Amino acid sequence: MVLIGPGGVGKGTIASRLVEEDERLALSRSWTTRPQRATERGHEYVFVDREAFEAAIDDGLFLEWAQFQGNLYGTPRPAPEPGTDVLLEIEVQGAEQVRREHPDAVVFLILPPSMDDLEGRLRRRGDGDDHVRRRLASTPEELAKGHGLASYVVVNDDVERATNEILSILEELRSKRRDPSTKD
Ligand code: 5GP
Repeated sequence: MVLIGPGGVGKGTIASRLVEEDERLALSRSWTTRPQRATERGHEYVFVDREAFEAAIDDGLFLEWAQFQGNLYGTPRPAPEPGTDVLLEIEVQGAEQVRREHPDAVVFLILPPSMDDLEGRLRRRGDGDDHVRRRLASTPEELAKGHGLASYVVVNDDVERATNEILSILEELRSKRRDPSTKD
């Protein structure tokens, strides 16, 4: 299961809420070459330098990886416990790779209620002005690709509501997986 959406939309918060609420979901921990933000505590990513990241690419560690805003991000190949679904929170190029390798991956595109709301969230996160502008400039392209990829579109107008919407879709998908005859 993959969450995509523009930076600042609240994917990370929704991902954390999803794994808190659903014990059958395991959140993947990505690697990145991006420096840790002042607001981060260190568990958000495996923070590595470019050399270590490139060595991991060569070793075939990643299910997918992508360069985004000058930094590398990658998902280690997951090894989930039986009965567990893996949750990825990644950008669109990575989601395209996951879809190619796992056509049954369910992709949720998370949208902000408005572009003003998105800008406010990016600024509150503590990123510099330049960074915020670059993120907003890449949003239309991310959204266009995201719409092409998404199985479901969810508006993050309220974290609890959006989380519950995703959880109920997941439940429905799991019951179809258990009983494929109900598939439409
Ligand atoms: P940030 O630097 O704001 O934490 O993340 C930037 C973007 O990279 C976000 O859209 C985030 O979802 C995405 N991202 C995080 N981890 C991964 C990953 O493992 N692979 C890919 N392709 N994107 C990721």
